[in-house]
Amino acid sequence: MGKPTGFMEFTRQLPADRAPSERVKDWNEFHEHMPEEDLRQQGARCMDCGVPFCHTGELLAGMAAGCPVHNLIPEWNDLVYHGHWREALDRLHKTNNFPEFTGRVCPAPCEGSCVLGINEPPVTIKNIECSIIDHGFEEGWVTPRSPRQRTGKKVAVVGSGPAGLACAAQLNQVGHHVTVFERSDRVGGLLMYGIPNMKLDKAVVQRRVDLMDQEGVRFVTQTEVGKDYPTGKLMRDFDAVALCCGATNPRDLPIPGRELKGIHFAMEFLHANTKSLLDSQHADGGYIDAKGKDVIVIGGGDTGTDCVGTSMRHGCKSLVQFEIMPKPPNERAPNNPWPQWPKRYLLDYGQAEAADAFGDDPRQYCIMTKKFEGDQDGHVKALHTVLVEWVKDENGRFAPKDVPGTEKVYPAQLVMLAMGFLGPEDTLTKALGLETDPRSNFKAEYGRFATSVDGVFAAGDCRRGQSLVVWAINEGRAAARECDRYLMGVTELP
Ligand SMILES: Cc1cc2nc3c(=O)[nH]c(=O)nc-3n(C[C@H](O)[C@H](O)[C@H](O)COP(=O)(O)OP(=O)(O)OC[C@H]3O[C@@H](n4cnc5c(N)ncnc54)[C@H](O)[C@@H]3O)c2cc1C
Ligand code: SF4
Repeated sequence: MGKPTGFMEFTRQLPADRAPSERVKDWNEFHEHMPEEDLRQQGARCMDCGVPFCHTGELLAGMAAGCPVHNLIPEWNDLVYHGHWREALDRLHKTNNFPEFTGRVCPAPCEGSCVLGINEPPVTIKNIECSIIDHGFEEGWVTPRSPRQRTGKKVAVVGSGPAGLACAAQLNQVGHHVTVFERSDRVGGLLMYGIPNMKLDKAVVQRRVDLMDQEGVRFVTQTEVGKDYPTGKLMRDFDAVALCCGATNPRDLPIPGRELKGIHFAMEFLHANTKSLLDSQHADGGYIDAKGKDVIVIGGGDTGTDCVGTSMRHGCKSLVQFEIMPKPPNERAPNNPWPQWPKRYLLDYGQAEAADAFGDDPRQYCIMTKKFEGDQDGHVKALHTVLVEWVKDENGRFAPKDVPGTEKVYPAQLVMLAMGFLGPEDTLTKALGLETDPRSNFKAEYGRFATSVDGVFAAGDCRRGQSLVVWAINEGRAAARECDRYLMGVTELP
């Protein structure tokens, strides 16, 4: 423990984000860095708890409490306080292959369960994590580490999101020949084409991919396994396969007018935007433009927020975000105690930008869309909505019920559907004859990660359903361990 009285002396501080009115003019990251002295003070707030809930990674009430990759948080807080950055970096890499991703995009369940958070604002764990790894790259401490010898075993990883990358990195470290197949033109999964550049700079993703490439991982892009690369060949060419294909099947809204032009799944909008940005700084026009339009985003989660932030940067005319659930309380509710993930009202970056431009948080709560209305050209022009209340149905489950007299029509020329994902597509399920779970994810027990097909493992969103980058890293690492055990009989992977 760096400073026994640190938690009493110093208040929680985070670096200020760039001002919303400024940052919407570009696609650069909105986070700023913090001076080293301030970071060390923040590290000093850590109490080095006897039972450090920050790194437990348990599911409580269905939500992650503590860090799912079990980062050695008290250790690196202490090291940062003492200015031992290199040692802090070594500790960080022991549990997390990609702290530069989680340090930027993780919702930080570690902070939600930090013991200091019981009666004070928690330690700024996520910002300290990001600072350690960014410092490590600046100092040139993060270099390729190739395995000393190869095993001669070949493993195919299907999908290059955080699960696939973590799995590939671990398997490569123990000497297997790893090939990562990705159907997109760039590696990274949702790190590349889901989460927008202002939240996670794509140069940060590519920097890690380049390191892995230098370490010996082979990347094959624009190749969809099951279509461009038959699964029969895959099973013949490789000694084991790890499926890390994500939950890419979006939830639709099958209501009248759904066929109208101008209604898109969020990922169509986000993927095209980042691709066009990276290919040509948007000069090729290969994206769905929100400029001058009334935009409605249906869905209040991370994906919806990214659609909001992206529309703001295009210069939309107005923006409303629909959320079917009620507005959360400002502070933890009594039935949501520490160390559970705190469900409370927050203004995320996209909403802060919309509020700055249009005067208010763009979210409307307890709202349901009943139909889309089109113009004479078959283009969406309005949404018909009603407010709902959540009441228990005959089975005792809460369900939305229309509130009479609350019908409203919202103008919109562009609508994004960001209502979550329904598991992986079924191409590989059918081609490999995989068993699925009741939610159509690949069936593979957590901890073993083996699917119903011998030598085929599954990890990340395609196994657990739509989740978080940090869980994808956790699963990718653990699936690599089980895959290594399958190939070698024993494993030293954590
Ligand atoms: C818009 C958006 C924003 C998000 N923001 C956050 C956030 O801020 N913080 C956070 O923690 N989580 C966030 N998430 C969730 C997080 O991105 C995912 O949980 C995580 O990326 C899942 O990792 P994965 O490796 O399992 O799958 P993915 O990242 O989805 O990667 C799967 C990859 O597999 C490829 N693929 C699929 N099938 C095949 C095939 N047959 N052959 C070859 N390749 C294939 C896909 O093209 C894709 O690149 C966000 C999700 C979305 C959609
Ligand atoms: S729970 Fe919070 S105060 Fe305790 S060790 Fe973890 S970061 Fe430090």
